[in-house]
Amino acid sequence: MSIPTTQKVVLFDKIGDGYDNIKYTDAEVPAVGPHDLLIKNHFTGVNFIEAYFRKGYYPSEQPYIFGREASGEIVAVGAEVSKYQVGDKVAYLSGETFAQYTKVADSSVRIAKLDSNLTHDQLKLYGAILTQGLTALTFTEETHNVQKGEFVLVWAASGGVGRLIVQLAKNKGGRVIAIASTDEKLKIASSLGAEFVINSTSEDIVARVKEITNGQGVAVSFDSVGKDSFEISLEALARKGSLVSYGNSSGLVPPVTISRLSAKNIKLTRPQVTPYVTTQEEWDHYTGVLFKEIESGRLDFDISKTYQLKDYAEAAKALESRQTTGKLVLEIPQ
Ligand code: NDP
Repeated sequence: MSIPTTQKVVLFDKIGDGYDNIKYTDAEVPAVGPHDLLIKNHFTGVNFIEAYFRKGYYPSEQPYIFGREASGEIVAVGAEVSKYQVGDKVAYLSGETFAQYTKVADSSVRIAKLDSNLTHDQLKLYGAILTQGLTALTFTEETHNVQKGEFVLVWAASGGVGRLIVQLAKNKGGRVIAIASTDEKLKIASSLGAEFVINSTSEDIVARVKEITNGQGVAVSFDSVGKDSFEISLEALARKGSLVSYGNSSGLVPPVTISRLSAKNIKLTRPQVTPYVTTQEEWDHYTGVLFKEIESGRLDFDISKTYQLKDYAEAAKALESRQTTGKLVLEIPQ
């Protein structure tokens, strides 16, 4: 296969809140060193984190090519690469995946080899599941290992990560209380196993949690909303509860004085998915569990909309303005 010297990518070159700084443009195809793979991407998942980089919440160097995860086919390998071959289908975590080609070092553990005869739709699924799937899985296992019978509060419960946490917590015997901003979104959470639902637009969340839990509060709050939800999560927790603050969809959580945690002996964590999948063993374990859950149908993963790569700005607008449920995916031009 001949590899071009230029490719289409989506990047931003200036920090800003708006969407005008999202550019679909040409860039060089990366040169492959002796220990590199060049992957021709087919699908890449859309994640909220891109907004944090674009808005400057997280530091970045510009131009910044968006993207965290993708699926595709290896089209070139460096002279020293032995573990992979041209033609291998893979799903992987890496930066710069909103691009036709991504270079990845062969030492990266975050590459999963896929079946060579996957269908188009399966390739789409694997290009989109890794970030949110591994986040939901590792957080419900390691950040707070959900126990049978305990009350579990899930924010943005019909969203990409949220709807997976609802199902995983429920499957572990947790009693899920789902929060979302509309009744349509709450219907989705109920259909996935949430036992109780709270509409964040029209209900008093703390009062409802107290009512549901007989005044005790929840054992854990999986909170991706951040600025607008942190105080509510803290109040809704039971004594010895865990606040898993893992996102900033509404803005960054302001600094917290740790002595505030002592009144109820709260455990506060701010986890990130990648440090849970750093060794080959961890990666193989969690991707193995995730793929099995998906393939067996025990975990319902919903790709709610597929956009073309060039239309990422539209996808970002929809995600950031709370119009979406499930996962958004970009299809890469071949
Ligand atoms: P979602 O599908 O959950 O979309 C975001 C949702 O957040 C919205 O649909 C909305 O749900 C809710 N929300 C509440 N307030 C706001 C607001 N002011 N603006 C926008 N959305 C708001 O996105 P993802 O599944 O992609 O990501 C969920 C969160 O998880 C993000 O914060 C992301 O950064 C984080 N994350 C963290 C990881 C980590 O390693 N720590 C890894 C992956 C994701 P509703 O309308 O129901 O309130």
